[in-house]
Amino acid sequence: MRKLRLILGDQLNINHSWFDYPDDDCIYVMMEIKQETSYVLHHIQKILAIFSAMRAFCALLEKKKFQVFYIKISDQENQHNFLDNLRTIIHQNKIDVLEFQDPDEHRLDLLLGELNHSLNIPVESVSTEHFLTSRDEVGQFFLDKKQWRMENFYRYIRIKYDVLMEGGSPIGGKWNYDASNRKRWDGMPPEPEDFRPIHNHRKILEEINSVNIQHFGEANAENFRWPIDRQESFAMLEQFIKNDLRHFGDYQDAMHSDSWRLFHSFLSFSLNTKMLAPLEVIKMVEDSYHKNSLPLNAVEGFIRQILGWREYIRGIYWAKMPGYNHLNYFNHNNDLPKWFWTGKTKMNCLARSITQSLTHSYAHHIQRLMVIGNFSLLAGVNPEKVHHWYLGIYIDAFEWVELPNTIGMSQYADGGFLASKPYVSSAAYINKMSNYCSSCSYNFKERIGENACPFNSMYWNFFERHKEKLSTNPRLGIVNSQLKKMNATDKDAIIKQAKNYTNNLDKL
Ligand SMILES: Cc1cc2nc3c(=O)[nH]c(=O)nc-3n(C[C@H](O)[C@H](O)[C@H](O)COP(=O)(O)OP(=O)(O)OC[C@H]3O[C@@H](n4cnc5c(N)ncnc54)[C@H](O)[C@@H]3O)c2cc1C
Ligand code: SF4
Repeated sequence: MRKLRLILGDQLNINHSWFDYPDDDCIYVMMEIKQETSYVLHHIQKILAIFSAMRAFCALLEKKKFQVFYIKISDQENQHNFLDNLRTIIHQNKIDVLEFQDPDEHRLDLLLGELNHSLNIPVESVSTEHFLTSRDEVGQFFLDKKQWRMENFYRYIRIKYDVLMEGGSPIGGKWNYDASNRKRWDGMPPEPEDFRPIHNHRKILEEINSVNIQHFGEANAENFRWPIDRQESFAMLEQFIKNDLRHFGDYQDAMHSDSWRLFHSFLSFSLNTKMLAPLEVIKMVEDSYHKNSLPLNAVEGFIRQILGWREYIRGIYWAKMPGYNHLNYFNHNNDLPKWFWTGKTKMNCLARSITQSLTHSYAHHIQRLMVIGNFSLLAGVNPEKVHHWYLGIYIDAFEWVELPNTIGMSQYADGGFLASKPYVSSAAYINKMSNYCSSCSYNFKERIGENACPFNSMYWNFFERHKEKLSTNPRLGIVNSQLKKMNATDKDAIIKQAKNYTNNLDKL
């Protein structure tokens, strides 16, 4: 029985049981195809990183004596879609059965799920053996619950995997140390060295350009610094634990003009392509807490992101797809400002966050949520357009994790299913957590006037505009009562100012 096994670009898990031993009757296939680069406009570093990591994975498999059929993006015989490439390989190699690992995207789940109708051979799927929960476990957990809050799920999964637990209770007596993780960073302690590997990708870049794949963003030898194999990913994890983790908690929400990464781990690409497994990362971090006495707020805060948020977000995706991508609770329909593609805006926080995203294909969580996402929501940008931008620009953007973060957490387009209130703020929050405002053309203290920070008037305009949908939200009591008490003349002036900004987003 000749078997063909399809490996997708985000399934680079060498510890999968498929790779326990080579089998003469089994061929593995990997393909770089336009179908997978063109569903949104992508940052060039994302395309480069995935293709490079796929090629490195193929080389590793061949070294271990597995037979791999690898189709490069520039190969003449590449038909640039799964079905036609598979048909040819199946025919040429007299394949009897096709196997694939469950894809993590709904789009691919549908496509691969229908292959047995198109290929005339049996098609079977197996688990990726990567996640800590099954696709429907979050949905099952919340089945009889009114609200799907991450914190409840997080406690369940910590107990299930016995992480940071002691005699049935959380170590330290508290489940969550988020309240201690909101320090501003003003240069001390110094940001650790960037230990990411450097790769020369000129050849693959030429191949990508030779077949006219559309892309955006920067890529040169200096800027392309993402890990492309497990060894490099593991080395980054070790450096993170050694140098950065101790400060991760304190400065998790901080932002700074001189430092675009601070103490974040850069591990999302390695995790999402499955070069690293979530449990091994969690266990190494937990071990380091016991062995090296690292601060509990840092260790718990970091583990919560992977054990809690990452699994929960995936569960929301599978519970809510299809359809979640089209939700638009506030009926927002503005376009993205043009400077989302250039970073050229007078708003310093956005100029910094977007420029670094274009340069490095990376922004950390608070930049994504409280600068770029916050602005998009206040500006009334269409959530699906915001989603496509996030899906294209970030190195770690795969729909199962990007979509609920953007549509649910950041844009509240699901009406509060994921987030208990919209993540919006005025300039006060950005000024508190960063030094961006001190060198901005706008004044963070002003609500009205030529130089008034757009966040301030747009913030109040947002709540005024959506008061019918938000006035009963118990978490917005203070905002709603401030809005009610606001003197009518002041309110009119603020709304006028906000409308002037939102009608001229490209000019900000
Ligand atoms: C609008 C928006 C879009 C996002 N899109 C993506 C995306 O496409 N892909 C992605 O992996 N993350 C996404 N995130 C979550 C988070 O911003 C990134 O995981 C993080 O910035 C990656 O950098 P890091 O590895 O240095 O993370 P760290 O800050 O070091 O965190 C460690 C790990 O925790 C996990 N994690 C942290 N926060 C989340 C979260 N909210 N959801 C799921 N996992 C989380 C990631 O695997 C990350 O590598 C998004 C967040 C927002 C607000
Ligand atoms: S003043 Fe406003 S626009 Fe400028 S950096 Fe601060 S929050 Fe951003």
